[in-house]
Amino acid sequence: MIPAIVARNVRKSFGQVEVLRGITLEVRFGEVFGMIGPSGSGKSTFLRCLNSLETVDDGDVYVNGEFVGYRFQDGVLRQLDDRELSAQRMRTGMVFQRFNLFAHMTALENVCCGPMVVQGVAREEAHKTGRALLDQVGLKGYYDRYPVQLSGGQQQRVAIARAMAMKPEILLFDEPTSALDPELVDEVLETIKALAKEGRTMVVVTHELAFARDVCDRVAFMDEGQLVECATSAELFGAPKMPRTRDFLQRLN
Ligand code: ADP
Ligand code: MG
Repeated sequence: MIPAIVARNVRKSFGQVEVLRGITLEVRFGEVFGMIGPSGSGKSTFLRCLNSLETVDDGDVYVNGEFVGYRFQDGVLRQLDDRELSAQRMRTGMVFQRFNLFAHMTALENVCCGPMVVQGVAREEAHKTGRALLDQVGLKGYYDRYPVQLSGGQQQRVAIARAMAMKPEILLFDEPTSALDPELVDEVLETIKALAKEGRTMVVVTHELAFARDVCDRVAFMDEGQLVECATSAELFGAPKMPRTRDFLQRLN
């Protein structure tokens, strides 16, 4: 079976600064893949390359066997057209650190607007699916609340339901709990854990190391734009091979 995600020697610079310095990895379907590393190591940029929010300077990204995004190759811009790009983007659903819900829409409207506007799903069907998704993230009965009427943890769970509403093959999480008050972190991690148990393919960037250790199948440690070490979570946390990984994990203990 083809991998869910293939990244080969992915490079990306902002101005003079190379923030991704040749990232190579594969994520299998059904796998929960964790990414950890210090702030500024390029984790968010890498996730953004996976769903074409960022262009790649060099290297290849494939999602479900298909080339993603656009890039310069031998000085020539190789690019997906808009239709290909939006089709490819729908294969990945992204959950951000800041939930970015639409303030003027209820929880249910936030979840349904993508399928209705982008995918042309009829309102009734979209609402039915939307309610089921909100139930799934533990928000039964919160359908008509506006974001200001929800806690941060509830808003983030709406954002997760919203990402799933587009029926993506892969869910990408970028530090989904780091903007939350500490007492709200667990409810969001539990929601993600439940999705992991369903066998969904997920890439989770997180600084919650206990979560990465317990929930992720494999974990990659990134530092300074490089993928330093990638192993099963038991190996990476139990017996890290690289000195840089050991340093990072020790500093956090
Ligand atoms: P992480 O998510 O691991 O904290 P990021 O991918 O956000 O790391 O950032 C990696 C580096 O790239 C940082 O030095 C950051 O300042 C820089 N960077 C990220 N996005 C941009 C951008 N749009 N323009 C310029 N520099 C950026
Ligand atoms: Mg980040």
